[in-house]
Amino acid sequence: MIFDTQRAIAWINRIAELVRADVERLTTLDTAIGDGDHGANLDRGMTAAVDALAEKEPETPGKVLITAGRGLVSKTGGASGPLYGSGFRAAGKAMRDEGDVVALSDALEAMLRAIEELGGAHHEDKTMVDAFAPAVAAFQQAAGATADMHTAAVAAAEAAEAGLAATVPLQARKGRASYLGPRSVGHEDPGAASTVLIFRALADVTAE
Ligand code: ADP
Ligand code: MG
Ligand code: MG
Repeated sequence: MIFDTQRAIAWINRIAELVRADVERLTTLDTAIGDGDHGANLDRGMTAAVDALAEKEPETPGKVLITAGRGLVSKTGGASGPLYGSGFRAAGKAMRDEGDVVALSDALEAMLRAIEELGGAHHEDKTMVDAFAPAVAAFQQAAGATADMHTAAVAAAEAAEAGLAATVPLQARKGRASYLGPRSVGHEDPGAASTVLIFRALADVTAE
């Protein structure tokens, strides 16, 4: 299987669909420990990404991710826009045109590094990193073991879900939720929840 231009576009479109379907859930999560805009922020940003790709189809999978990242940065309000936006841009820059499972694995790792670098969040700060980092690790491990893109993406989505669940007992140390101190305990982190959608979408578009 190749992560080519069409599959990259399908990934972005699928993320947009899953975000749209879960806007209310993301909003509810962000209402509990933030300002209630995460669903709307990402919906707006992903719509901009989809529109940018529809307007002029990029020639390579890397350019697809860069274009989507730009759309996200320009239209997503809040912390998550620049984080995901620069993440997708970094993934696009790292993505080699052969688009094999190793190229995708490296692109996902570059995305994680960009998010970590910009946001400065570490393991257990109760952010999207708590879902993203285990997802990338699981992708790399499964890719190494099976060389199968879909198997790796499914493993990544499952690891992201486990990472999301693990944010519940944590007290936030980064982002808006950190202002709540101990009151941030007992809730899923909204950004970790949207990261699950990003990897679920990847599993969906690599199914065949
Ligand atoms: P805002 O908090 O500005 O309203 P969003 O609601 O769109 O932005 O996104 C909130 C999510 O962004 C959080 O749930 C968290 O996962 C993520 N986030 C916030 N700050 C950081 C950071 N410094 N590093 C990584 N992720 C962060
Ligand atoms: Mg918010
Ligand atoms: Mg906000």
